[in-house]
Amino acid sequence: MDKESTPSSPPRRDGSEQLLRPRAWDQYIGQKTVKKALEILMGAASRRGKEPIEHILFYGPAGLGKTTLAHLVAHQMATPIKITSGPVLERASDIAALLTNLTPGEILFIDEIHRINKTVEEMLYPAMEHRSLDIIVGKGPSARTIQLDLPPFTLVGATTRIALLSQPFRTRFAGGIFRLEFYTEKEIEAILAQSAAQLEVGADSQALAMIAERSRLTPRLANQLLKRCRDVAHVADQNMITPDIVEKTFDLLGIDKAGLETEDRRFLSVLIDKFNGGPVGLSTLAAATAEDPDTIQEVYEPYLLRLGFIERTPRGRIATERAKEHIKKTYAETFRMELPLGSSSNVVESLPVDGSMLQP
Ligand code: ADP
Repeated sequence: MDKESTPSSPPRRDGSEQLLRPRAWDQYIGQKTVKKALEILMGAASRRGKEPIEHILFYGPAGLGKTTLAHLVAHQMATPIKITSGPVLERASDIAALLTNLTPGEILFIDEIHRINKTVEEMLYPAMEHRSLDIIVGKGPSARTIQLDLPPFTLVGATTRIALLSQPFRTRFAGGIFRLEFYTEKEIEAILAQSAAQLEVGADSQALAMIAERSRLTPRLANQLLKRCRDVAHVADQNMITPDIVEKTFDLLGIDKAGLETEDRRFLSVLIDKFNGGPVGLSTLAAATAEDPDTIQEVYEPYLLRLGFIERTPRGRIATERAKEHIKKTYAETFRMELPLGSSSNVVESLPVDGSMLQP
């Protein structure tokens, strides 16, 4: 018998993100308020005939399902979708080429839309408002503007940094601006169960709950953890993810009970140890952690804020007592040692700034 076809051995399927992306509206779990609003928007547009929906904007931390939702809107409206992202639209000609090649009703999805430059942004204004594109031909005194009509289309923008979008730009998303929320653990468990089925790997409910607990309530990360657990299961020559396998995987990845990775703990320990818990400004923190300020704001902070581990104040970032407790506890668990009572701040202060002691 072919080994790969036995129930206990790994199936051949590959587990790329594409494979796990929900293909039907019902497979998109959670985000009920946003889904409801979109259903009304799409239902109304469909009733009016061939009209596309108005331009919409999704915002929220990475991995919460903005791109997936854009694909699903296209699927529901039975229209094609073109995908691009802010940083690649450098010149006016880039956006002009995209817009003039749209088919009627098509969706243009621009990821990281806060990163498009001002020229491109301003070209989008008339395109979004009255489907026209102003192109400047020639240079100097002989330059003239020609106006091109565009087919009806829907711009779907996605951003992790809504505050960086100018007010005039925001107001042009007439269909609505939708904030995607972190998921509940139960929703993440449902996403994981769906993904496990897609990946053709078994998983018991306790194991899924354990993964959900440390998934930062983010589907992308939950799916990535699931795939790592699957790897560990396969190496153990089984096609079933059990609590044991999950524990082993988290130990290997250095993920603690709050879902923090080594890098998050390093970030926190710099804030706590080097700056006495803050407040400290973003640029100083970026220099001390050797991280880009954008990475701090987009990768580290959303979940730490959600956990109540840090606070953003006008004077800078502050680590909360909760964060200090967590770092102290993780440190103690990692080294399997009892800490003397009343030593919380001393212990935290004695942590190395590079977080190296925190690595399992
Ligand atoms: P974003 O664009 O916000 O960074 P994505 O849409 O790329 O996030 O989502 C990342 C992955 O997470 C998707 O490929 C999909 O597998 C999964 N995912 C996201 N949202 C959901 C959801 N609501 N239900 C099921 N899976 C989801």
